[in-house]
Amino acid sequence: MFNAILIEKDDNGYRAELKPVDEAVLPEGDVLVEVSHSTLNYKDALAITGKSPVVRQFPMIPGIDLVGTVLESQSDKFSVGDAVLLNGFGVGETHCGGLAERARLKSDWLIPLPSRFAPEQAMKIGTAGYTAMLCVMALEKQGVTPDKGDILVTGANGGVGSFAIYLLAKLGYRVVASTGRVAESDYLKQLGASEIIDRASLSEKGRPLGKEQWAGAIDSVGSQTLANVCSMIQYGGAVAACGLAGGFDLPATVMPFILRGVTLAGVDSVMRPTEDRLEAWQRLAELISDDMLDDVAEQITLNEALPYAEKLLAGEVRGRIVVAI
Ligand code: NDP
Repeated sequence: MFNAILIEKDDNGYRAELKPVDEAVLPEGDVLVEVSHSTLNYKDALAITGKSPVVRQFPMIPGIDLVGTVLESQSDKFSVGDAVLLNGFGVGETHCGGLAERARLKSDWLIPLPSRFAPEQAMKIGTAGYTAMLCVMALEKQGVTPDKGDILVTGANGGVGSFAIYLLAKLGYRVVASTGRVAESDYLKQLGASEIIDRASLSEKGRPLGKEQWAGAIDSVGSQTLANVCSMIQYGGAVAACGLAGGFDLPATVMPFILRGVTLAGVDSVMRPTEDRLEAWQRLAELISDDMLDDVAEQITLNEALPYAEKLLAGEVRGRIVVAI
């Protein structure tokens, strides 16, 4: 038996509880991991609260990120005692995840924990930081270099947004942060933002083509915000879109794409091939300082993950939440 947050759905309804769980609950996999740290992401909060159908199989252990030590291995890629890192691959959604003391996983999903990071540091970064890095890489691939102009980051106080600001600033971009929490401007400036705008300025229906303001953008909000952002990107610029914190619709026109050659680059972290994961984590290891990690995250216990899921969805959490298992 081991402790886990277990999500169940039956005649008594949808519920998530911290309880002892039998190892037989764990699905098939060739590596058994003793989890040391996990995280609480937006998707985990949706799974725990049941506010969106993230979990489709029950019972399920949430937790899309984890770091731990290999306890048993039938894989030639990993040996007992290796420190491993997992982000995504449907873990915590269709396969039991990291908010538990044990996880049985497929070795193809794991990468070695980068030696630069302690376990809790890798989880401070987690899927949010790794996705922010993938978004930066997507802009680079479209030729958006620091000399081209400012980069807008939406959902600035969130996990993806915080890391996007830091990584872009570290790479020499001038960053404009869009937030609903302008009171947190000092934190955003400390991360590297040069200018803060109120997200309300992007949330109402705008013109098909607005003033060309930004060379690129990293958007974790979606919906009307993403449509407006696309309409205000400079000629030849690009938007890396990864999230839907404001909604999954996209009430846009084709005008920015066909008249300004703007690229809307979709970014998925979940099913990303291993070589991209290794590249993203290598770059995170080069760019991120220990000080930044100390400021960007708070640590909670497995027990606290349940109330924190509500807080996260209510937009009351700044930056990242690490769960010490
Ligand atoms: P967080 O909850 O940490 O941050 C989301 C931020 O979005 C909030 O802090 C807030 O920022 C802003 N926001 C929230 N609600 C609204 C709203 N109604 N309108 C406008 N802005 C809003 O989440 P994450 O940063 O972890 O994730 C952000 C998004 O990216 C989520 O939708 C998540 O599912 C998605 N995601 C996608 C991944 C992928 O692989 N494609 C991977 C990781 C995340 P502020 O207070 O500054 O305005």
